Amino acid sequence: MNNKSALVELNGVAKSFRSADGAPRKVLDDVNFSLAEGEIVALLGKSGSGKSTLLRIIAGLIPADAGKVTYRGQRIQGPASGITMVFQSFALFPWLTVQQNVALGLEAQGIAPEERAKRADAMLELIGLAGFGGALPRELSGGMRQRVGIARALVTDPDVLLMDEAFSALDVLTGETLRSDILDLWDSNRIPTKGLLVVSHNIEEAVMMADRIIILASDPGRIRNEITIGLERPRNVDSPEVRSLIDEV
Ligand code: ADP
Ligand code: MG
Repeated sequence: MNNKSALVELNGVAKSFRSADGAPRKVLDDVNFSLAEGEIVALLGKSGSGKSTLLRIIAGLIPADAGKVTYRGQRIQGPASGITMVFQSFALFPWLTVQQNVALGLEAQGIAPEERAKRADAMLELIGLAGFGGALPRELSGGMRQRVGIARALVTDPDVLLMDEAFSALDVLTGETLRSDILDLWDSNRIPTKGLLVVSHNIEEAVMMADRIIILASDPGRIRNEITIGLERPRNVDSPEVRSLIDEV
């Protein structure tokens, strides 16, 4: 597969970890897929199936044991500027203000502090947190904290955004609201991000968001199935089309 418009491409990716008894255990085995420009892909799989491991490999946080991982045709060998990740646990610094947490995303890019603060504020406004820049994370609700996590990722204008169960620490309603706000930003082109890879164990979330769903089987750590969702967004969770897709997955 040498797709010119592929943002991220994985060929024959394998990864093992040592288990408690010291023996290697294969978590990923021959994983192949690509994320195309303009696409939202949901990666579904049970807990322990290797979803986070796969995202961390794409983010360049850990290396694959075998296979090829490329971003716009270049091998990924460490964190690439252009690929950013949002974590389930928000991963905010509690002693920094909301604005400082978001601006951190820009520090590595050598942008002047004043400009960083300005861009952080603009991103906070876009994500629905205007006026909260001076607050500390603990003063915010869980949903607002994850908005900060997302703002910190988006402030760098990432080409590819990876979301690792970004909504699953939130209560259902809060998670759904945040999800639809992100989709709104994406569908109305208010963020320059070109590819979104959403890891989830929630079938409904995947069907509501994705253009394509891929399912990771825990044993033997391969892509088990792939489903294309040919529905416009926003989607109605109660529509027969969405219900039947949820049943199919
Ligand atoms: P998922 O995100 O689908 O729940 P993970 O990718 O987090 O799955 O983990 C897949 C498997 O790999 C699990 O059994 C987990 O315990 C194991 N694993 C993940 N990271 C490590 C690590 N750094 N060291 C040892 N085992 C790990
Ligand atoms: Mg995980």
